[in-house]
Amino acid sequence: MDDLALTAELHLDCVRGGGCCHGHRIQVTPWEIACLARAKGMPVIAFRDRHTTDGATFLLADGALDHRGLIGCGLFRDGVGCTVHAARPLACRMYPLGRRLIDGRAIYHHPGAQHGCYGICPDIETRPPRVVGEWLAEQGIHRGEIAHDAYGRLANGLLRQAVALIPDHQGRVDLVVEMRRRATLAPGVRAALFSSFWYNLVTAPPIDQVVDEPETFVYAHAERLLSAVADGMAGKESSAAPLLATIGMQLALVVGTRPEDVLTAIVILAA
Ligand code: SF4
Ligand code: SF4
Repeated sequence: MDDLALTAELHLDCVRGGGCCHGHRIQVTPWEIACLARAKGMPVIAFRDRHTTDGATFLLADGALDHRGLIGCGLFRDGVGCTVHAARPLACRMYPLGRRLIDGRAIYHHPGAQHGCYGICPDIETRPPRVVGEWLAEQGIHRGEIAHDAYGRLANGLLRQAVALIPDHQGRVDLVVEMRRRATLAPGVRAALFSSFWYNLVTAPPIDQVVDEPETFVYAHAERLLSAVADGMAGKESSAAPLLATIGMQLALVVGTRPEDVLTAIVILAA
């Protein structure tokens, strides 16, 4: 995984071969689910149930197979391409690059050992190379980055609050063990621990009226989650702690945090 200078030059001009719309798992934040639902003209919950999987953390790949036999994203159509192009998720906009935050600063990199397009859309090498920073500026990633970073902060805050809620008595060890167990679960299995009330609130909050403002959307989402806890919807403190931790784990996952890093954070916070 090599970090890229914004001045680096790479083959990045997409030849629209659709290679990256097949055989990949695309993570989606709740904000992206709301954007995609609007693009498809569907209610958010209906879109979530039809087009996402693994507890609404990934887009569902149920499209046609490509010439390599790889399954396509359900939002891809042969001859059309991406049917939600203007609303496509950050991961799609950035392909073949990845992104992570270091000290609050975005670093861009190749997620794999080599340029992800070369093996699947080799024609890209016939296009002139592009300056990374200029190409990124054309991909419309700014709003997606705002939402991702805000969800990253929210996930971190929820994990901290979860640990702070753990009562300081005999049951503490059991609760920490339970939270660590949940961190190792597959996202779909973990999401199945939510009641339908919490599943809807975590993945499809009823705030689509602010979907054009990603930071406002995530703040409103955080407020809805914390209000529900304050209203007693999470039950007693011993129930609220693993619930908040589970929400934090799901949100951390969709912004690219590795499960082992969530585990480490819980161990450090609970020490
Ligand atoms: S693999 Fe690369 S060139 Fe092919 S469609 Fe995706 S971004 Fe474009
Ligand atoms: S959302 Fe669009 S760009 Fe992204 S994988 Fe699906 S079809 Fe491709």
